Amino acid sequence: SVRLVQVQGVTKAFGVGPTALKALDNVSLTIRTNEFFTLLGPSGCGKTTLLRLLAGFEHPTEGAILLDNKHVVNDPPNKRPVNTVFQSYALFPHMSVEQNVAFGLERLGQRGPEVAERVAAMLKLVRLEALAKRRPSQLSGGQQQRVALARALAPQPRLLLLDEPLSALDLKLRRGMQVELKRIQRETGITFVLVTHDQEEALSMSDRIAVMDHGRVLQLGRPSDIYERPNCRFVADFIGEANVLPGSLFGFKAPYVAIRPERVLLSMKQDPENSGLPGHVVEVVYLGATTSCTVALQGGPLVKVERSDLPTGLVPDRPVICRFPHDALLPLES
Ligand code: ADP
Ligand code: MG
Repeated sequence: SVRLVQVQGVTKAFGVGPTALKALDNVSLTIRTNEFFTLLGPSGCGKTTLLRLLAGFEHPTEGAILLDNKHVVNDPPNKRPVNTVFQSYALFPHMSVEQNVAFGLERLGQRGPEVAERVAAMLKLVRLEALAKRRPSQLSGGQQQRVALARALAPQPRLLLLDEPLSALDLKLRRGMQVELKRIQRETGITFVLVTHDQEEALSMSDRIAVMDHGRVLQLGRPSDIYERPNCRFVADFIGEANVLPGSLFGFKAPYVAIRPERVLLSMKQDPENSGLPGHVVEVVYLGATTSCTVALQGGPLVKVERSDLPTGLVPDRPVICRFPHDALLPLES
């Protein structure tokens, strides 16, 4: 089946009575075999709780979870074809790299040359062959991350859960590991579910993204769907940058419209062919590849424009015209 995971109307409440907190509130989604699926949302929105339900560390308060079309809510973690990579890596400090990777296989009762072969294949996959005899303390953070990944992949789970796996790495290492994770997912064909609060990470790595807030999935789709057609203010704002303006400003029935800073056009004087909205420059920031200019439209709202082709001579208080190409206006229902 292409539907590997089905989450159906899942609610998870912590506590009882009026003080109960719904960490997940009626979440439904499907994760397909072979996909790189991302749960994206701010801290506290319920991402880890959903992963823990998939892994079997928690029970839903309501709803069902199916894996390969079978109900798994009553299966303990070790009975599910699921493995987790934790942010802390959780490596065994007294074991070598290869012993760490073998651990998951031996726990499943595997012994002998197959284990050694599988460990070697996993270390090759994560490009750590040369460090097989080292202890975790003799590795960098990025290398430890790879060991954790190799250990989790060794038993060939159907589903690999990764809870903010890259957040402890510095920016440059993180970008490199993003590319690596993507390659490893492609080469193994294992379904990955990544948790992150980093929208750039989600956009660049995922086949599909579920954007979450307050225990709910607000939008689910491919990165381009979510960036180009956000369905609400939260998603428009959380994924990339967006100017959110009243729909009435552009004759839309929707209460709001969003427009990306790179789609707004700025000119110094009114173009008779193409009417725009007048305003004045508030701030100009040179960013290298682009320049960002904040404009206060007449009547108040601020609009951010970020482009590589802004006119020269933009300085604070300078009167300008903002134009909003119709096809760049994204109507938002809420
Ligand atoms: P995220 O991973 O998106 O940051 P979490 O799933 O960890 O969010 O948490 C979602 C909400 O549930 C938070 O408000 C958190 O405090 C609460 N929560 C998580 N686990 C527990 C728990 N074991 N007991 C009580 N509240 C919890
Ligand atoms: Mg979390």
